[in-house]
Amino acid sequence: MTAKTKAWVTDWPDERSSALSLTFDDGYSCHYEHLGPVLKEHGLKATFFVVSGWLDDPSTSKYAGRIGTWAGFQQLAIDGHEIGSHSVAHPRLTRLPTGSEDRAGSLLYELAESKRAIERHVPTRACTSIAYPYALRNRKVTKSAANYYIAARGIGNPFTIGATAIVDIMDADRKLKGLLPTQNRPVSLFNRWILTRKNRILQKNNAFFQKQGSALEDNSLRRLTSRIQTKAFGRGVWSLFVLHEVLPFDQVEKVDTFSPYPVDYFKPFAKWLAQQVKDEAVWVDTVSNVMKYLKERDTFVYRVIKEDAGRIELQIGHGLDKDTFNYPLTIDVLVPDTWKHVDISSQGDTRPPERQETWNYEGENYVRFNASPSGQTLTLDGS
Ligand SMILES: [Zn+2]
Repeated sequence: MTAKTKAWVTDWPDERSSALSLTFDDGYSCHYEHLGPVLKEHGLKATFFVVSGWLDDPSTSKYAGRIGTWAGFQQLAIDGHEIGSHSVAHPRLTRLPTGSEDRAGSLLYELAESKRAIERHVPTRACTSIAYPYALRNRKVTKSAANYYIAARGIGNPFTIGATAIVDIMDADRKLKGLLPTQNRPVSLFNRWILTRKNRILQKNNAFFQKQGSALEDNSLRRLTSRIQTKAFGRGVWSLFVLHEVLPFDQVEKVDTFSPYPVDYFKPFAKWLAQQVKDEAVWVDTVSNVMKYLKERDTFVYRVIKEDAGRIELQIGHGLDKDTFNYPLTIDVLVPDTWKHVDISSQGDTRPPERQETWNYEGENYVRFNASPSGQTLTLDGS
C-alpha cells in the first residue's frame, strides 16, 4: 500500500488569514497606565520593548520623568504580554565595539545584559525578542543578536526593510536564507503610515479633535483599517505596529518624547482589531509567538509510520530547539474517506492535540488539530 496520508500546516493558527503584532518601545509608564487597560478590555496581547538600564535608573534616560518601573512591566507580563529587549542604554548598536557580555558599552553587553535583566525582573518567561534602538542594524549586529534572540524587530518601508529586519535574525545562524521572500510571505509595517497620520492630524486638525473629543470618529480609522485589510489581511502577511509613548490627547503635544501617539486614537483601533480577531480574520499575538509559529511551520516535518483503514500513526517534528519552539501548530491531515470521526492520542508526555475537527473537501476527508511538534508520534483512530 502506498502512503496516502499527507499533512500540512496552515499559514497561521486556525487558518487565520494573517498575523499582527502590536509593539510599544522604550518602556514608558503610560504603557501600563493607559495602554494596559485598553489591551485588557479587548483581549489583545502586545510586545513591550523596554530599555533595561532606563528601568533600573530612569535618570539615565533623556525621557527620565516618563519612563516606567519594573513593577509596571511585571504586571503587563502577568497579564500575558511579552516584555522584549530594547537594549540596556538605547545606543546605536552599529557603532559599538563587539566587546563581551560583561563589558559595559559593548555590543555583546547590550544584547546579553538587557536579556539577563529582563529575565531577572520578569522570570515567568524567557526574553526572546529584541527591537534594535533607532532600528539600526548591520550584519554584525543581527548575527550577534541571533545568539540571544529568536526575533529582532527593525522598522522600515512596508514589505522591504521590515521584512529584512525580521528575517535576518533568523538567517544569521539558522541557515534559512530567503525563507520569507521565496515563500512570498513578506512582513509589513504600518507604523510609518500611522506616524504620518498622527502628525498630520495634530498639525492640521488639532483644534477640531480636541473640541470633538472623539479622535477617530472621522474617516481616519476607516482609512487605516481598510488599508490593513487590503495590504495585510488580504496578502496573508505578518504586520507589525510600532508605537512609542501613548497618552491622552491633551498630553500628546506637551511631551518631548519621540513620536507620542494619542490613546484616544488607539482605543477605537483596538476595538476594531478585537472584532477582527473574533471574526477569525487575523491572529494577534506577541512578536515571539508569531516568530515561533512561523519558524516551526516552515521547518515542519512528518513521517507516516503506519496507515491502514482504521489507524494512522504519524510522527511530527521540526528541526528547532524544542524548549524554545513550542507553540502549537495547526495541522491538517488527509485521512481515509470512510472516517466520520477521528480520535487522536499522543505518545509519551507530550501535550495531546487540541481543537480537533474533521471535514470533507472535494471528496477528501481531513482532520485538523493543534499540536506542538517535538518528534512525538500521534495515533489517529478513525471510525
Ligand atoms: Zn527606542
